[in-house]
Amino acid sequence: MNTGNIKKAVKLIRESRYMVAFTGAGVSVESGIPPFRGTGGLWNTTHPIFLEIEYFQKKPLQSWKKIKEIFYDKLGDAEPNIAHEILAKMEKRSFLESIITQNIDHLHQKAGNKYVYELHGTYKQLVCIGCNSEYDMSFADLNFLPPTCFVCKGILKPDMVFFNEAIPEFAQKKSFEEAQKADLLLIIGTNAEVLPAAKIPEIAKKTGAKIIEINIKPSPFTNTVTDVFIESRATEAMEEIGKLLYL
Ligand SMILES: [Zn+2]
Repeated sequence: MNTGNIKKAVKLIRESRYMVAFTGAGVSVESGIPPFRGTGGLWNTTHPIFLEIEYFQKKPLQSWKKIKEIFYDKLGDAEPNIAHEILAKMEKRSFLESIITQNIDHLHQKAGNKYVYELHGTYKQLVCIGCNSEYDMSFADLNFLPPTCFVCKGILKPDMVFFNEAIPEFAQKKSFEEAQKADLLLIIGTNAEVLPAAKIPEIAKKTGAKIIEINIKPSPFTNTVTDVFIESRATEAMEEIGKLLYL
């Protein structure tokens, strides 16, 4: 890790008036949550069909069995790591306005962040595919699959974005707005290979934001929009930044 770049990043953070963080799988890996893509990613060992919306609608039980095993049996116990904690402290101390995340793990909120826009939804909430009623997952008994709606007996689906399913409108609108308002974007642990997430850094850059990027290796952003690149795991870099900001 280049300490010179950490210092440059801290200077930008101190000078910023509206910093927004943009996070992905790399923030949560050290909380024990595997990424979908890349080395060690979920799609290397599991075929993603169970997260296709058409498959879910046709075979909700089969889909739910896999979803429960991969998300619900593990995510419930996952705890925020130091990178999440520093982001929460940044918000509390008014260094950070909001987080745009591609993660569905709810760990930013668990760490204490209040303004979190979840581009890919959340595992924490279930939604009825019949009547759109929403439930906190704690109301669902996943010993009996698939979980069903109290109102209409329809099947409940995790409120995360499946393949071939639209991005939640509110989250997308807010994310684009936040990217436009930002004078500093802090990218952490993401290559943002999918749309519309991939557009966020570009939108921020176009409206004049500086870009800090923390990733374990260079990404498509590094040589295009990034101003300060910190080649590091999220936890290490954020811990150092946190120290220099006295968080
Ligand atoms: Zn319903």
